[in-house]
Amino acid sequence: MLTDAVSFAAAANADAIDQLRAVGREFHARRWSLGTSSNYSVVVSRDPLELLVTASGKDKSGLTRDDFVRVDAAGRVVDGTGRRSSAETLLHCTLAGMIPSVGAVLHTHSVWGTILSAADLPRGSLRIAGYEMLKGLEGVATHDTVEEVPIFANTQDMVELSVRLRRHFAGIDWAAAGSPPCHGFLLSGHGLYTWGRDLAEARRHIEIFEFLFECVARARMLPAGDRSPAALAGHRQSQQHQQQQ
Ligand SMILES: [Zn+2]
Repeated sequence: MLTDAVSFAAAANADAIDQLRAVGREFHARRWSLGTSSNYSVVVSRDPLELLVTASGKDKSGLTRDDFVRVDAAGRVVDGTGRRSSAETLLHCTLAGMIPSVGAVLHTHSVWGTILSAADLPRGSLRIAGYEMLKGLEGVATHDTVEEVPIFANTQDMVELSVRLRRHFAGIDWAAAGSPPCHGFLLSGHGLYTWGRDLAEARRHIEIFEFLFECVARARMLPAGDRSPAALAGHRQSQQHQQQQ
């Protein structure tokens, strides 16, 4: 029976690895994970917490079955001898430990995410509002939504960044009913982290966020200024306010 259990776990891991390899090929093709950038993980055990995560320095366009390691809640490799886990493994572990529903964490380095995360670092978050595509984020039911994507200053010190994440998200009841208060965050000049209950949901969140980042950035570039739904709504409100005076 033990052998059956072990082989079942091995098969489940192989399946998860193949799904993550497919994510790598897709994200590379869509220019969200060029070169060895980005890292991906799935939760393979909750008690104790263990994640399957991409190994360090692997090209995401051609991940092999050997390009993954299994890590514990502290990011230590428990399976995958001779391979180092991704440098940002601790962030995956922190998110999975903090949010009980997380089944997968994905991280990308897109052009638009990189530009916007640097531009809006001084205000501490990227505001996305009024777009129909916001409904692609879990629990969001209307375009009339404001998604504030927190932006953290970039660093190579993952322990320090992990502490900042915990501090920022402290007090959030992730199990509360309704839309989650946050679906992802940005590292300045670096990229996006998002997650989902499973890999499919996390993949969808990447796709939705990357679409929205491009909309926000391109709207700011239009000759007439920011024509995003949020900016236009703000303009209409100020016009009504002036008319009432
Ligand atoms: Zn990164």
